Amino acid sequence: MSDLTPLPHAPEVRRRRTFAIISHPDAGKTTLTEKLLLFSGAIHIAGSVKARKASRHATSDWMEIEKQRGISVASSVMQMLYRDCVINLLDTPGHKDFSEDTYRVLTAVDAALMVIDAANGVEPQTRRLIEVCRQRDTPILTFVNKMDREGKDPLELLDEIEQELGMPCVPMTWPVGQGKAFGGIVDLRKQQMRLFKAGADKRDEEGDEIVPLAQADTLRARFGGDFETAEGSIELLAGAAPAYAQEAFEAAKQTPVFFGSGVNNFGVQEVLDALVDLAPPPAARHVTKIDGSDVEVPPAAEGFSGVVFKVQANMDPSHRDRIAFVRVNSGRYASGMKLRVQRSGKELRPTSVVTFLSQRREAVEEAYAGDIIGFTTHGGVQLGDTITHGEAPASFGTYTGLPFFAPELFQTVELANPMKSKQLMQGLLQLGEEGAIQVFRPTVGGAMLLGAVGQLQFEVVQHRLKAEYGVEARLGACRFHGARWVTCDDETAMRKFTDEAASKLALDAADTLAYLMTSPYDLRLTQERHPKVVFHPLREHA
Ligand code: GDP
Repeated sequence: MSDLTPLPHAPEVRRRRTFAIISHPDAGKTTLTEKLLLFSGAIHIAGSVKARKASRHATSDWMEIEKQRGISVASSVMQMLYRDCVINLLDTPGHKDFSEDTYRVLTAVDAALMVIDAANGVEPQTRRLIEVCRQRDTPILTFVNKMDREGKDPLELLDEIEQELGMPCVPMTWPVGQGKAFGGIVDLRKQQMRLFKAGADKRDEEGDEIVPLAQADTLRARFGGDFETAEGSIELLAGAAPAYAQEAFEAAKQTPVFFGSGVNNFGVQEVLDALVDLAPPPAARHVTKIDGSDVEVPPAAEGFSGVVFKVQANMDPSHRDRIAFVRVNSGRYASGMKLRVQRSGKELRPTSVVTFLSQRREAVEEAYAGDIIGFTTHGGVQLGDTITHGEAPASFGTYTGLPFFAPELFQTVELANPMKSKQLMQGLLQLGEEGAIQVFRPTVGGAMLLGAVGQLQFEVVQHRLKAEYGVEARLGACRFHGARWVTCDDETAMRKFTDEAASKLALDAADTLAYLMTSPYDLRLTQERHPKVVFHPLREHA
């Protein structure tokens, strides 16, 4: 049987849902995550996710990030069973300086759940995440949270979300009242209203009070003007908003919207059901073959393949190990399977392979497309690597379109103690592979350069070099303010460029050539002088 034969695992693929939860800090992502776990039965008392969340009183920003890093292995991937589905939920780091990490997480999912604070609407951090989802046409479900607080008018909110997302909103539920007067939500498909009841940390087994819309008089009597306003809005929307269309949602051309209050367990059931009923199962994934061409890997195909979208090193300082998070793209992973890293052709011998069921790390027995598994290794894997079973063919690709963003900030790195240069190199290599920082080696002499998208990355790397590698590194100012990866089809033109620009060229960790610029003006001028050279702001492939 060819490795590309589709279908043997189709039933398992069909029941997978893999999504990321995205929001601006404080919109209620952690709370909703917890409540989704609660409703799926994965946990019985809310609080277990919360307890692991980084303290808000951390003394510095990087300490907070460190704490988040500490908790993130446990809580960044959560698997739950709900109805007949296996749901993989991926958390995204909150801090803006770590958005690179978030972008990579978004490459590993089939849908995103966007949480919006009803009072604040679409906030900056959410906006950036939306951009990435839009680039990849990732379907987005929207949850408007905190309806138990005074917030923006729901119609206004929909308008705002539509503007920001650039796609129509299709409300699936609609709120009656808001803040103190929050009466509940109308399920527009089922034509019934679930009455609001403040919830606690446990799921109320007695269930909620549900009233069919056919009994509108009862609801009007109970909620008065608020119900009438909701009725008016629903009527308005029936004429103005498009009907829900599955294909449009899957093509990221409309977003279904749900209202609720995470902290009160309210409206959560509807979201969980939507994940099963609306969110798409894993589809074929585009990967790049070793020869540079693109191929689609069908999820239900026989051969196992997966892509490393996150590497987390040194979680335990006493073990020099790291976890490579792999999204399964095809086939079935079974414990004990012989694995190979496509890039190097080398065998991967993980010391353990874990799954993330209910936030406990457990040895994984089997996994299918859409699932996330963690390989603990001592090295040999990089972000973007394709891992396959044994001799699986190169047709399963080497690198996915895992984005590296061109750094905007640069610093030179030097040692306080020159005896430690081996440790420094090792540390930078590993932190670079993890994606914590980008490392550039100038092609002609000069100190190594660190490139970052956010300032905080430097602080974290400096701290981690010391804590994990015993290296006191000095960071210094640097004349560069941006980088572009360069390619050129014309050899002569490329040589002319590399000769002329030699003092501004550097190789990144994957040995890809980059042009370092001192200003946007510098870049423009260079582009004009070398029209045949292409300057890429994003490195997707090695
Ligand atoms: P995250 O930063 O997005 O993960 O947000 P959290 O889940 O930690 O929530 C931020 C704050 O908002 C916490 O104090 C929550 O208790 C609170 N919160 C979350 N959901 C709701 C809600 O539905 N209503 C109200 N009033 N507060 C909420």
